[in-house]
Amino acid sequence: MATKFEQKKADRSTDTRLPEVDRELIARGVRMILEGLGENPDRPGLQDTPERVADMYAELTSGMHEDPSQHVVPLPDDKHDEMVIVKDISIASLCEHHLAPFVGKCHIAYIPKEGRILGISKLARLAETFSRRLQLQERLTTDIANTLFEGLKPIGVMVVIEAAHTCMTLRGVRKADAKTVTSAVLGGFRTDPRTRAEAMSLITGRE
Ligand SMILES: [Zn+2]
Repeated sequence: MATKFEQKKADRSTDTRLPEVDRELIARGVRMILEGLGENPDRPGLQDTPERVADMYAELTSGMHEDPSQHVVPLPDDKHDEMVIVKDISIASLCEHHLAPFVGKCHIAYIPKEGRILGISKLARLAETFSRRLQLQERLTTDIANTLFEGLKPIGVMVVIEAAHTCMTLRGVRKADAKTVTSAVLGGFRTDPRTRAEAMSLITGRE
């Protein structure tokens, strides 16, 4: 097993891309967690658990190997000048402090400049790429906003994320209903409180 792992490492040194996930190494770590818990990792129920967990973490961090800016390409033929809001984009991310999931909704608003707009699915892909990483909700929010602002060059961008963190709802203070709300406000949304209020009321559904 050790030889195999070293071989993989050597192959990687010539590769300039982000290293692929080393599932075997993660599985070994999970096996150690099971042993640390006093469990027998070889009992039938746990035999495949290390590999399953490795696959799960690979999936939950798949955005580390994607370039989010690839999703920010304006539609060539369609133009629109009014505010665009896509709300309730489901996100699932991993808190980097506990490797515990946090799940919630992401709302993205922007005001196009010179008619430049994105396909709506691209906004969801952007949120997905950044959430499939080890994250902090604050950074997730600003990363989505900054990438959209830099790539599309709109008049303004606003991103709001509401999420429940399992590291808070299941353990520690155990506030089961606690939601964390973060926002990032750029450009015209920052300078014009009325536009910001309009976007916020459309997002929250309140006047
Ligand atoms: Zn946490």
